[in-house]
Amino acid sequence: MEKVILTGDRPTGRLHVGHYAGAVKRRVEIQDSGEYQKIFIIIADAQALTDNADNHEKVRQNILEVALDNLACGLDPMKSTLFVQTQIPELTELAFYYMNLVTVSRLQRNPTVKAEIQLRNFEASIPVGFFTYPISQAADITAFKATMVPVGEDQLPMIEQTREIVRKFNAIYGETLAEPEAQLVENETCSRLPGIDGKAKMSKSLNNCIYLADSPEEIKSKVMSMYTDPDHLKVSDPGNIEGNTVFTYLDAFCKEEHFSRYLKEYSNLQEMKEHYKRGGLGDVKIKKFLNEILQEELEPIRRKRKEYEKDIFAIYEILKEGSIKAREEAADTLDKVRAAVKINYFDDLDLIIKQQAKYRNLS
Ligand code: ATP
Ligand code: MG
Repeated sequence: MEKVILTGDRPTGRLHVGHYAGAVKRRVEIQDSGEYQKIFIIIADAQALTDNADNHEKVRQNILEVALDNLACGLDPMKSTLFVQTQIPELTELAFYYMNLVTVSRLQRNPTVKAEIQLRNFEASIPVGFFTYPISQAADITAFKATMVPVGEDQLPMIEQTREIVRKFNAIYGETLAEPEAQLVENETCSRLPGIDGKAKMSKSLNNCIYLADSPEEIKSKVMSMYTDPDHLKVSDPGNIEGNTVFTYLDAFCKEEHFSRYLKEYSNLQEMKEHYKRGGLGDVKIKKFLNEILQEELEPIRRKRKEYEKDIFAIYEILKEGSIKAREEAADTLDKVRAAVKINYFDDLDLIIKQQAKYRNLS
């Protein structure tokens, strides 16, 4: 079986280091490994509109930002197909048929949707489109016959929902759709990076992000304002590393070589953590160290982005060509789905002959 990847982002803002650690970095590694025959990267603008119906200008503006961020991180349009969701109308039609295979109570049980509803204060005013976005995501994944979906932890319930839809569809209509698997990054911290305020998830919606395109000064000031241990008041106080955002980020980004470059007094993260727990290691010092690491990681991304920013026409061309290519693949799946659901009436000569025979017998 062909190995296919489908993954992507909502164009609700620029990409942040949570995206980078949990999704985009891995995406580029997969692309460069050559292990997958096809890689589709979706800019999910239709999904972004489900909770931004009256904010469509924001979505429109951010399609370019998300494309630039992906390219800056090393996504190569020669190897990966970068496309825009709304330009593939086949996806909407697929979602419409899948809706018949999912119950309201099943959607209500989705923990990520539950959390997102709470975050947006939707309660009873939740738009139907937003409520059903896991189904639309199943359409995205299956349209491209994806076998693997690399995602951050918050997306696991969506992949599970997709697998259920695939199984149900294949059971009713015959083997048609491919069942995808989710893939999390190996480093657990990276698959759910908290915001600089220490809240569960760095998220565009929570305003707690370090953006990939932030300037060195912005990065530094965000790192210096990070949530640490509120009881660690004096340098000499023993400190807590649990729930301490700086250490969480170090778990995500720090490598041993960083110590020889920026903080020679320790040889690894464990030693540094022990010192912090004992007391005698101040927050300013750990923040400065993290700042050096993040600056080193983000500088080449920012540089590459600046290059791409010089020719915005070319970026829209990449998206347009990617969307044409993606549409061919989705149309092929939709043909198969229509045949399986037996709504291809006019291509089904057997049906027409049998119907005719029924009436011939009557006359
Ligand atoms: P929104 O608030 O608009 O939903 P978001 O910040 O959650 O934005 P998405 O576009 O929904 O971003 O997510 C894109 C990808 O990045 C998904 O695979 C998601 O799992 C991953 N991701 C998002 N936030 C994080 C995070 N803080 N840590 C790790 N991965 C993340
Ligand atoms: Mg999200």
